Amino acid sequence: MQITTRTMQRRKNIALVAHDNYKKHLLRWATEHKDKLCEHNLFATGTTGYMISKEVELEVKCLISGPMGGDQQLGAMISEGQIDLMIFFWDPLNAVPHDPDVKALLRIAGVWNVPVATNRASANFLITSPLLDSEVEIEIPDYAAYLAERVG
Ligand code: PGA
Repeated sequence: MQITTRTMQRRKNIALVAHDNYKKHLLRWATEHKDKLCEHNLFATGTTGYMISKEVELEVKCLISGPMGGDQQLGAMISEGQIDLMIFFWDPLNAVPHDPDVKALLRIAGVWNVPVATNRASANFLITSPLLDSEVEIEIPDYAAYLAERVG
């Protein structure tokens, strides 16, 4: 796979998602980092986003609820280069009905080299990174080259 780069702006597009057992953890984390989060554009799956906007009072663009297609919606945004970081408190101890969507979301974030935090500790590392507030060049698959290779 050939590689190209994409520029993340200083103001990042941050996706926030939490499975039900972890929503309270994400709400607490978002409250603690509200001063930083409010400097970026926030996107979230439906229920997570609703709770963050109501309880933390951050402006969030709410997508569809995860089990109803929100994870796939987020995956599509990642593929289109519209998400820079993802904070995804997924539940490692309980099955969810949309497990294939969860896997797909994590996979597509891997494909497009999107930094992902999956728990409180990794989220703390991401939110305190000096890169958060700078323009950042990241490597991504060169889609034009990929297509050219496939069609000959
Ligand atoms: P929700 O979806 O925010 O609508 O609960 C989260 C998820 O992806 O499970």
